[in-house]
Amino acid sequence: MVSGLVSGRLALVTGAGSGIGRAACQVLSREGATVIAADKNYNAAMETIKTHTALASGANMIGDHSAAELDVSDSSSVQKLLQTIKSQYNATPTIVVNSAGITRDNWLLKLSEEDYDSVANVNLKGTFLIMQTFGKAMADAKTPGSIVNISSIVGKYGNIGQSNYAASKAGVVAMTQTAAKELGKLNIRVNAILPGFVNTPIISTVPDKVKEQMLKLVPLQRLGEPNEIAEVITFLSSDKSSFVTGAAIDVTGGF
Ligand code: NAP
Repeated sequence: MVSGLVSGRLALVTGAGSGIGRAACQVLSREGATVIAADKNYNAAMETIKTHTALASGANMIGDHSAAELDVSDSSSVQKLLQTIKSQYNATPTIVVNSAGITRDNWLLKLSEEDYDSVANVNLKGTFLIMQTFGKAMADAKTPGSIVNISSIVGKYGNIGQSNYAASKAGVVAMTQTAAKELGKLNIRVNAILPGFVNTPIISTVPDKVKEQMLKLVPLQRLGEPNEIAEVITFLSSDKSSFVTGAAIDVTGGF
């Protein structure tokens, strides 16, 4: 077994087929965790396991790591994943990273109800469903655990064209703080990370001109890389952060 910050722990990462979720799988597995990469796109999640974690053989398992199809906004999909994990591992994850997220940007005055709902359903309701389902599983198993929710710095300051997204991410912080208060007595820690602008597919729709303007507001004068968020996720997942709960940590290059 790899000796690291989270050795021997079972970690569930949502949105693991891309960007920050994929990097989280990479760093958590490097630090000794067994990783379940879950994404709406199963092939992308499988790619994460194949290319970014320790390799072995198996149809849908690589070593002890595995990939799963998951729609975080659908309670039956979330329940099904819990049952699959229980039968596959005979255990409950003690690390849960909520990285699944989407944007559907538009000016407030033009934003469709459908785009409002999709973003709220994935980013906010999805975080709720995963926390409730896997928090209860941790509580039933009487295991200490760590839940890390990926919010966004725009949840704190707002951002033009992102009223739906910013509101969903502010909601993630409020939900994190509430869950930390409720689950602390069970030794389940719940924290949020507020990334700034990170080099992943989610920001590919942002025009270069807007990116240049954004970077002027970043003291480190560059985009973040997914692994720079993943290192903080891993710290919050590990016992190194054993007295940290209910925190919302900016990881923004100083934005
Ligand atoms: P990304 O590269 O687009 O990754 C997000 C992943 O989540 C994708 O694989 C996506 O699949 C998946 N996903 C979407 N809807 C899902 C659902 N209903 N159920 C399960 N998986 C779903 O974006 P990222 O930059 O890594 O973002 C990760 C998290 O960080 C998000 O919550 C995002 O809001 C947050 N964040 C990102 C930045 C940034 O600058 N990159 C900044 C602040 C916060 P599809 O590709 O098929 O949709």
